[in-house]
Amino acid sequence: MTVPRLTRPGALPPPPPLRKIAFEEHFLVPEALKKNADGSIDQNDINFHALNNGLTTEWFKQIYDRLMDFDQTRIESMNESNIEYAILSLQCPGIGAVTDKRKAEDMARAVNDALAERIAQHPDRFGGFAALSVHDPKAAAKELERCVKQLGFKGVLFNGYSQIDQEDNLVYLDEDRCSPIWEALQDLDVPLYLHPRTSYQQLMYKGHQELVCANWGYACETGTHAVRILVGGVFDRFPKAKMILGHNGETIPFAAWRLQHWMEFNPGKDKPQRRIQDYLKDNVYTTISGDWSVPALLCTMQVMGSDRMLFSVDYPFENMDEAAEFLDNAPISESDRAKLAHENARKLFKLDHIGS
Ligand code: MN
Repeated sequence: MTVPRLTRPGALPPPPPLRKIAFEEHFLVPEALKKNADGSIDQNDINFHALNNGLTTEWFKQIYDRLMDFDQTRIESMNESNIEYAILSLQCPGIGAVTDKRKAEDMARAVNDALAERIAQHPDRFGGFAALSVHDPKAAAKELERCVKQLGFKGVLFNGYSQIDQEDNLVYLDEDRCSPIWEALQDLDVPLYLHPRTSYQQLMYKGHQELVCANWGYACETGTHAVRILVGGVFDRFPKAKMILGHNGETIPFAAWRLQHWMEFNPGKDKPQRRIQDYLKDNVYTTISGDWSVPALLCTMQVMGSDRMLFSVDYPFENMDEAAEFLDNAPISESDRAKLAHENARKLFKLDHIGS
């Protein structure tokens, strides 16, 4: 026989579920996909997205359906998981893989307009990140301004490096040519989300193709890209610019001390003006997207501080309910939990009407 629990006649009702804001949440629209002669979407391009993410085309089918959906499963999942608001971004590799300048710029504008139309159907539930081509960074800055001022977008998400003109001409965002984009971000006071994409250089994964994507390769590629931005002086030149990293900072919080330590041994002249840890606490935010690990969360929080960490899911590559359950039960204070769930995002994206 089960011993009955003691009654609690003085118990108060439980607190309401913690409402959340998520913003590493991805979509696809027909405007971002190649078409057949009859106007239908080219299956090969869908397969390209699967393979580029290191996934089988069979498994990707369920992801593809969810990427294209803005109404059914996406909103039902948000409701089930108390996610009040989601900022949506184009699935990787996106514009960065379009080598032709005209095509890349046209696609970026078409995708941004298509996203704005989807958001208009659910303005209280969705916001948007711009997709940009870096072929002409000044034009990219103008498109960002259009997206923020006219379409109401909340910032930009880059899927890592961009390929311009030819497949092996890679542009990383710390390069001088990208300065107009950082300048626009600073002036518009919106953040840049640096999201992973598969490394162009694949030799180090020889014989281990299973390691190229989210399990390992993304953190190597995106962590390196982010470190280039940190040590490349971007935040010395643009001290008010803001960068967001997913997945508990792509391992940078874990590596920050040693990174700084060896920067100080480095005899090279080109050094950032401040410590890596200073940029992390003043210019960088990180989400817990897709990394439901208590030790990783606590390490990131010790390095970055709870004002710099935010909730996100990485939908549809992760389940929203698992993300929400992780944060609801993580061993952190109630005030830090509220910061991660919605308070920090409300400030960062000026979402005064959400989650209060
Ligand atoms: Mn993602």
